[in-house]
Amino acid sequence: MKNFQKNLEKYAELAIKTGVNLQKNQELLIMAPIETADFVRKVAKKAYEAGAKNVHVEWSDEELTLTKYLLAPDETFETYPLWKAKGYVEMAKEGCGVLSISASNPDLLKEVDPKRIASANKAAALALEEFRDYMQNNKISWAIISIPTSSWAAKVFPNSTPEEAVKKLWDAIFHVTRIYEEDPVKAWEEHVTKQNEKLNLLNKRKYTKLHFKAPGTDLVMELPQDHIWLGADALNEKGHSFIANIPTEEVFTVPSKYGVNGTVRSTKPLSYHGTLINDFSLTFKDGKVVDFSAETGYETLENMLETDEGAKYLGEVALVPDDSPISNSNILFYNTLFDENASCHFALGSAYPVCLEGGENLSKDDLEKQGCNTSLIHVDFMIGCAHMSIDGEKVDGTLEPIFRNGNWAL
Ligand code: ZN
Ligand code: ZN
Repeated sequence: MKNFQKNLEKYAELAIKTGVNLQKNQELLIMAPIETADFVRKVAKKAYEAGAKNVHVEWSDEELTLTKYLLAPDETFETYPLWKAKGYVEMAKEGCGVLSISASNPDLLKEVDPKRIASANKAAALALEEFRDYMQNNKISWAIISIPTSSWAAKVFPNSTPEEAVKKLWDAIFHVTRIYEEDPVKAWEEHVTKQNEKLNLLNKRKYTKLHFKAPGTDLVMELPQDHIWLGADALNEKGHSFIANIPTEEVFTVPSKYGVNGTVRSTKPLSYHGTLINDFSLTFKDGKVVDFSAETGYETLENMLETDEGAKYLGEVALVPDDSPISNSNILFYNTLFDENASCHFALGSAYPVCLEGGENLSKDDLEKQGCNTSLIHVDFMIGCAHMSIDGEKVDGTLEPIFRNGNWAL
């Protein structure tokens, strides 16, 4: 690949400057698969050059994860190491930035008993609740980026040699993260400005309901009166901006917890903790999932919905036009960071309190009272396609087109 090293440098810099927007004397916590070590070292170097006080890396190893799932006793999956959870909270209290490298093999846990995975996910979610709060309320800066690993690349490009697959995935990632632009940091600033125009429009309109229609989808969603549409950039407690997802193409807000009725059909496979859920549909009544089906991964979906009461309700609605860079790449990434930014999506589970006027200062109980869902999970799933139309309902009950044939009509 031409200029590969140069592009790697640009990507590492984008993660630090645009993603986390690391400040002088700030600490950085990186969560990364061991296979990405070379790249993580580059990122750490950029972080120190930007003035980082300390860079702490939490490595994960898919081979060890799989070995554990296959061989450890059942009770192992019912707990999560508290020292670890407490350590993360300690770092968050000090105002660290968090950078996650999402690059998992979508089929890693295919052969593992879904019950084991479900209990491990729940134990982790419970133990990490306080830490997660720092991120979901944007108290600290956080960002997710991806780089190819061999197993993931092989899933995306099954007809290529392992080496070719990794190259192709790098190329795709560089494309959609604007690394091929002369100055990616500047390109992202322009992208954010453009996106903000759309969400400003939506915030002015103050729709009371959204009507979704597509093959297999017919759903009406109420929005809380004080909802706020947000986009790529966010502000942390200290007033520093950051971009939580690179790439991102979405504008999103919070649905009214008890105000979702109808059926929605998935349009892309969902990679959920090492298992794929595919061709599924969910039917909602007064916000709650009352029926569901799935061609693949039914048990995984069932376990996900059983995580807690809030897991059966929606916490996010996001709009992404069909005509956008990731969608136009026509690549199915089997990685939510990319696939959700190629398609309109909903999320099951907790809502981002910042999507509600003053929501970041509300307790869990108060959030629930305002119709803002809380849960241990937040799982985005893709529902957009080239046939989707979305109407916005105004206070007087009239409808206005927001999306037609999968693209903005506003
Ligand atoms: Zn989203
Ligand atoms: Zn989400």
